[in-house]
Amino acid sequence: MKICLLPGDGIGPEIVAQAVKVLDKVGGKFGRSFEYEEALIGGVAIDASGAPLPQETVQACKGADAVLLGAVGGPKWDTIDPSIRPEKGLLGIRKELGLFANLRPATLFPQLRDACYLRPDIVDRGLDVMVVRELTGGIYFGEPRADGEKDGQRYGFNTMVYYEEEIRRIAKVAFEAARKRSGRVCSVDKANVLDVSRVWREIVIDEHKNYQDVELDHMYVDNAAMQLVRDPSQFDVMVTGNLFGDILSDEAAAITGSIGMLPSASLGAANPGLYEPIHGSAPDIAGQDKANPLATILSVSMMLRHSFDMGEEADSVDKAVQATLEKGLRTGDIMAQGCKLVGCKEMGEAVLAEI
Ligand code: NAD
Repeated sequence: MKICLLPGDGIGPEIVAQAVKVLDKVGGKFGRSFEYEEALIGGVAIDASGAPLPQETVQACKGADAVLLGAVGGPKWDTIDPSIRPEKGLLGIRKELGLFANLRPATLFPQLRDACYLRPDIVDRGLDVMVVRELTGGIYFGEPRADGEKDGQRYGFNTMVYYEEEIRRIAKVAFEAARKRSGRVCSVDKANVLDVSRVWREIVIDEHKNYQDVELDHMYVDNAAMQLVRDPSQFDVMVTGNLFGDILSDEAAAITGSIGMLPSASLGAANPGLYEPIHGSAPDIAGQDKANPLATILSVSMMLRHSFDMGEEADSVDKAVQATLEKGLRTGDIMAQGCKLVGCKEMGEAVLAEI
């Protein structure tokens, strides 16, 4: 398998280096071989070529089976022309690879339960939700969109539109993901008010005919936002559009209290999937061996599971992360009383030892 590495800025290179070691160890254990090609994205790409997403990077990604990204951005590039900011590289590569599905698991490791913002009795029921967000359609991209002035008043509007094909393909991703988990999908919409949601619901129900082994139910987005904090254990996979998914995936991640632990995957129809931690480039701790590499290591686990169909290999990474936490090793962001503070490299080495 060929993997394109995009370490990016800030802590990106440090965390990606640990994740690559994990991949190599898994490869050795299971008789798999991974080939790497590194390319530039974000601020480092601007410094080298004047653009946050050089054409060679796009080509390298398109020629790979999967892409592993660290993070982009930092104060050095905060004041440059907004059209070439590092974050544009991220949006650009998602568009170039046609990544329409964003998978964001929000998992609470039992060892980190004290970090969770929910009441202990709620936490005890479990928190392991996968939010599948549609990434390239809906109100963020719908036309027409405009702002202006009419009758002496400023106004603005956007269009929330979904086509059948867009709904069908994201529903498929959700049903497939549920098959690899506990087999339940909750589709989130606002079908009591929005026409676009009514169509969304009808198409999801129709696509479900091809996945009768998966359980499907529906929830309005306002209720879903509340249920996520009331009792997240009721959810397995949540599938929803771009706007609702943006909010719900952040909510689900935030309640775990450990943003440095959460991976993500963005998938397209046939192109390579892109895997990255959900946190940013953490410029405040970059270059100091303080970053938590676990979100990136867990992103590698998602890559093994979703792009390479290597479930056993992915399980071995997840278990190694759990075992490392069990031993009481913690980076600064997840440090707790009675645990041992370690740096990025030592945390990576500890995971390797558990594989
Ligand atoms: P951030 O996620 O980089 O950092 C927020 C806080 O969490 C910081 O205190 C940081 O030290 C800490 N943190 C984050 N990841 C950590 C890790 N793995 N280990 C230990 N601590 C960690 O968010 P921010 O400070 O708002 O943004 C910093 C830069 O990152 C900005 O330029 C922003 O645009 C960019 N950013 C990039 C992405 C991405 O590449 N996907 C996402 C969000 C932000």
